[in-house]
Amino acid sequence: MYFKMNYLAQGKLCPPKELLLMRLKGGIFLKLKHILKRAFQSITVASLTVSLALPVSASSMDPGEFAKQNGAYTPAGNPSVTIDHSAIAARKKLKDKDVLGPVDPAYTMDVSYDSENHHVSGTMNVTFKNNIMDNLENLYFNLWGNAETFAENGGGMDVANIKVNGKKAEYEMNGTSLHISGLSLKENKPVNVEMDFEVNLPEQQDRFGWYKDTVSMGNWFPILSVYDDEGWNVDPYYPYGEAFYSVSGSYDVTVTTEKEQVIAATGTEIGQPTVHGDLATHRYKAFNVRDFAMEMNPNYHVISTKVNNVDVNVYYSDEHAKYADALLESGAESIQLFSEKFGKYPWPELDVVTMEGWFGGMEYPQLVMISFSGERSLEWTKSVNAHEIGHQWFYGIIGDNEYDEPWLDESFASFAASLYDGELDSLEVPPVPDEYYHLSSPVSDFTARASEGGINYYYWMIYGYGSSTLNDLRQELGDSVFYEAMRSYFKEQKFGVSSTEEFISAMERSSGMDLSEFFNSHRVFVSDQQ
Ligand SMILES: [Zn+2]
Repeated sequence: MYFKMNYLAQGKLCPPKELLLMRLKGGIFLKLKHILKRAFQSITVASLTVSLALPVSASSMDPGEFAKQNGAYTPAGNPSVTIDHSAIAARKKLKDKDVLGPVDPAYTMDVSYDSENHHVSGTMNVTFKNNIMDNLENLYFNLWGNAETFAENGGGMDVANIKVNGKKAEYEMNGTSLHISGLSLKENKPVNVEMDFEVNLPEQQDRFGWYKDTVSMGNWFPILSVYDDEGWNVDPYYPYGEAFYSVSGSYDVTVTTEKEQVIAATGTEIGQPTVHGDLATHRYKAFNVRDFAMEMNPNYHVISTKVNNVDVNVYYSDEHAKYADALLESGAESIQLFSEKFGKYPWPELDVVTMEGWFGGMEYPQLVMISFSGERSLEWTKSVNAHEIGHQWFYGIIGDNEYDEPWLDESFASFAASLYDGELDSLEVPPVPDEYYHLSSPVSDFTARASEGGINYYYWMIYGYGSSTLNDLRQELGDSVFYEAMRSYFKEQKFGVSSTEEFISAMERSSGMDLSEFFNSHRVFVSDQQ
């Protein structure tokens, strides 16, 4: 997800109405461009990039005074951090990858979307392998559409007729979690789960919802939860970031809707849609992806290009036409640049879609949503696009538990965007002064202190300080060693699920250096995930 604003402060912070509205959503990530660090003391506007997440409480105030009053920035420099290295080393524990599963999910869905009632109904059938344990008695799915934020606007999901290996199964829904119980599944045997499901899309400018003509279908179907060394992961929905955690698999999705709808989807459309009366049926297949998203609008235009043998498509509506070329250009350039630096983009297609919304952007495999709220510069547009496309590598290809270790995708996508922007050399964000927050902290550490600015600290640490930390690592290792290490990390984790420990290990093995001091001093701790 992207949550950043380019804002030339001119020595003043004058949040427009939009910023204040965003404040209601809980947090703001301000990128104060072209302001020297000393501007915080002397209010001098010059030419350095400083990224900060600040709680907005004044409509007009100079940045130094603003930061001082909010306690958000320490002009004197980074606060010292005291670390107990021996305690951290003692808590280091190797993650047992053997229990990460269930693996190899193959989803087949046949759904109808009723554009008038914003309603999805259909069937879902998923086969996977029980690699977890003998006699697995429970299965969990996430029903993200049941999150409170969607229910408030008419959204929700329901399931029925669940069968496991052909037999009717007991189940219970609890908010965003579906628990299927009373099972007896043998280890290393294939399992098949089928169910009917219905979805009401909320009227909401969001990654899941509809607004005017645009329908955003992110996290819209029942998706298998992940079982790992901590057990089943059924974390709550996180509106300011992600709690999505899933393993890579394949999708075969048939969608029937009004024939006028122009649809962008994860994967590749197979053949031409079949038109019957007012409806059309489309079929998509996707491989090695950890989710399946769609975006549709009957008024979308599409422009395309090809780079590195990848089809890049931009779907845009009339009001976003002025951004279309910038999205196509930055889309192709990002694929080229990130393939070179991090490892080859593995899929045949990438769709970039425009929509209205407060959040900036959202990533799904092979599909990124770029949301516009008011006027945006082309520079902002390209940078957001680069961030979301960066997630194709960090989340899409190299998966992570987005709730427990959000930095593994957000810091990396932010670093990728700064690389694209050509701004790495001026990337210098201090850590949050409060040592309670680690770079490797789980989302729950930030939400636990939500009323004390925890969400702002989330953006500051995970986006700002995280990308700055990766840049420090680049400078520590040198470009050639750093990117070589990133590419070996990519090879090791491709289509898998990584962890902080595995990232550190990949960097150390590839560089031949002991980086424990570097990561400890940047508050990256393996123990955070336990
Ligand atoms: Zn992001």
